[in-house]
Amino acid sequence: MKKRTGMFCLLLVALLAGVAAGQSQPAPITAIKAGRLIDPETGTAATNQVILIEGEKIKAVGPNLAIPAGAVVIDLSKLTVLPGLVDAHTHMAITYKEKPENNYYYLTYVMESTPLRAIQAASNGIQLLNSGFTVVRDVGNNALYADAALRQAIEQGWLPGPTVIPSGPMIGSTGGQFWPTPEMYKDHNIMFPEYIDANSPDEIVRAIRENMLFGARTIKLCIDCKPWGYSVDDIKLAISEAAKGGCLVEGHVQTADGAQRAIDAGIHMIAHGNALTPEHHRQMAAKGIFLAGTDTPFMPYRGSEEAFKRTVANLRDAWEKKVPLTFSTDFDYWNERMKNEKTGEWLTRGDLTIAFLETWKAAKIPPADILYAMTINGYKASDIIKERGPIKPGFYADLIAVAGNPLTDIDALRSVQFVMKNGMVFKTDGVMTPEKFFHPGPVRTPSGRWTR
Ligand SMILES: [Zn+2]
Repeated sequence: MKKRTGMFCLLLVALLAGVAAGQSQPAPITAIKAGRLIDPETGTAATNQVILIEGEKIKAVGPNLAIPAGAVVIDLSKLTVLPGLVDAHTHMAITYKEKPENNYYYLTYVMESTPLRAIQAASNGIQLLNSGFTVVRDVGNNALYADAALRQAIEQGWLPGPTVIPSGPMIGSTGGQFWPTPEMYKDHNIMFPEYIDANSPDEIVRAIRENMLFGARTIKLCIDCKPWGYSVDDIKLAISEAAKGGCLVEGHVQTADGAQRAIDAGIHMIAHGNALTPEHHRQMAAKGIFLAGTDTPFMPYRGSEEAFKRTVANLRDAWEKKVPLTFSTDFDYWNERMKNEKTGEWLTRGDLTIAFLETWKAAKIPPADILYAMTINGYKASDIIKERGPIKPGFYADLIAVAGNPLTDIDALRSVQFVMKNGMVFKTDGVMTPEKFFHPGPVRTPSGRWTR
């Protein structure tokens, strides 16, 4: 017994010495054989490539790379490998419905708690990852920071999901997007947490600091949700305050005047394309302002032919004027018509998201440009292009594989066969296999950020 205790002590000392010296088990190597590998930056594809992944990150990419002994080999030689996709404007933690809310999201807000909405967000994240979306910008209407909690839970390793870029509550001037009664507004503070009312420079600064303190990675402003909205100076103040915490600013825009103020202030990104004119597009292109057009297709479950025609024409004009376009949905609703017409099965949140390709196809945007918007511009708009996206050494291994070639047929993206996130396989042969993502520890503490 004594001897065994002694041996245990020796082992413990050796282990601690190893930890002190920074030694750890070498990360496992995975080798992916890619039949075709797309570089969306250049819109080109290379055949028969090998991607070596060490732990969470890509180590090497090339033809004829030697595969180290003991590496796990994943054979995607019959598939096309490409970076994961980005939905640059969505809402993970709200689902307003026909029943019981009659599509009135005020009611969702009073009927569904933050914890319930956070769990919905976790499910939505898994559904989106299953359809190849490895990054989402999650910009408001997420109850009491359910978006920031989702980001944190995925980063810490509790569950699989896309990398989430959360905004925290949308910041707006009196009323946000609500039209509350005086008593609900003044006596019950009904605005918060769906919106933060910020009506003066001091209040704008405080709201931005609080969002960053509570885990926001981007800032979302209601530019013109009310006629009193934000001035150019207000927006400039927001941009400089957000920059102190490493955040960029997106503006919700619904009027031509609001769009002009956001552009004049030099905002990072404009959400919703409906109110933008060709002149706005010209200025956005000149200034490099990203557009999250939230280009809703006309489907049996959503939209109208007339609205769709306008959306398509606006997207087409923005593309012709070379506005930096992102793929974006504004998804936050559900109804009983959301079924696959052939099988009668419910469409997943991922199916509903990728269906926005219909608008891009109707605008006759070339597949390589659609893919650029869904990847490169998505990573840039999310401000993570230095860490995630390109399938190059040093980047996180977030990649997907599809049958066919999306550079010639963008609909190939509708049937994602393989998904890897942070070097872990989430889906293979078209089936979710997320076992490796579920464990009670260790809880990861991602480095390199000053905030929680
Ligand atoms: Zn939105």
